[in-house]
Amino acid sequence: MATIRKIGVLTSGGDAPGMNAAIRAVVRTALYHNLEVVGIRNGYQGLIEGDLFQMQSTDVSGILQRGGTILKTSRCPAFTTADGRAIAHRLILNSGIDGLVLLGGDGTFRGAGVFFDEYHIPAAGVPCTIDKDLIGTDTSIGFDTAVNTAVEAIDKIKDTAEAHNRIFVIEVMGRDAGYIALNSGLACGAEDILIPEAEERMDDVICNIDFNGRRHKNVHLIVVAEGNELGGGKAVLDSIKKQLPERDVRLCILGHIQRGGSPSQADRVLASRLGYGAVMALINGNTQVMAGMVNGNIVYTPFSQVVKGTTLIPEDMLAMMKALTG
Ligand code: ADP
Repeated sequence: MATIRKIGVLTSGGDAPGMNAAIRAVVRTALYHNLEVVGIRNGYQGLIEGDLFQMQSTDVSGILQRGGTILKTSRCPAFTTADGRAIAHRLILNSGIDGLVLLGGDGTFRGAGVFFDEYHIPAAGVPCTIDKDLIGTDTSIGFDTAVNTAVEAIDKIKDTAEAHNRIFVIEVMGRDAGYIALNSGLACGAEDILIPEAEERMDDVICNIDFNGRRHKNVHLIVVAEGNELGGGKAVLDSIKKQLPERDVRLCILGHIQRGGSPSQADRVLASRLGYGAVMALINGNTQVMAGMVNGNIVYTPFSQVVKGTTLIPEDMLAMMKALTG
């Protein structure tokens, strides 16, 4: 087992609130164990461009409660090419980095797997995505904050919807995963929740609105994941307008506010534990793994498993969603 002396840390792919808390945990844990730490800016792009800097404890002071990522993040098409990864490898050799901590989502870990197959650089991952759908962890850094942001916004929309007897379609993030829509919709008592994981027909949505209207329940909130089968918030709005032209219906797309903001307590603690866990994995020679949280414990799952798919929403939650909406 090769001894790790100098680690590089980067944030990659979609940003998530809590990434800074994870960076802080990685840096402080590494320094505590007498490792050097190099910050790599802009994800894999920084490995290709040589955008590195030596990190000290003070570099991560005051960032725990800040959204975004002080290391910046990017999608890096160059890293998906063999030439790009060869440049990244040369940079790693020249800089003396002998282990990487990667904060990102499944794409980031897919890239890590490819890179390791070619160059065998030890790496450990920390799951950062507001989508929560990664295999190998019960939840991911950023999800709790994003849902709470959505809940706060939907509660406000409900107030104004009630004042005017309006139907509101509220689109939340989630191209492939409906966790934000499901959790925020349940938490706000939405009348309908449309997610990629559950089949829903527009006719059922219209029936539901109509049924509620006939019993004088005129406020109707429909929380829609952007990737739902009916085509996102705008498509749902247009269908309702067409089929119920007499009803007052509005669309609110929450968008990127769900990615920003100060991370919740849950995300700060999760990020701290998993950032610590990733560095400990490297120190203990456990590489090519993502540190996840399963039943309250740190569990390491190989990148090759993490990228195999996404987690499924439990059947009982889908059944509950049907029972509690309407
Ligand atoms: P996330 O990590 O949030 O899922 P992306 O899917 O954009 O975000 O992945 C982050 C980065 O990982 C990509 O921009 C790319 O540089 C790298 N990556 C993703 N898939 C691969 C792959 N198959 N081979 C090499 N690099 C990859």
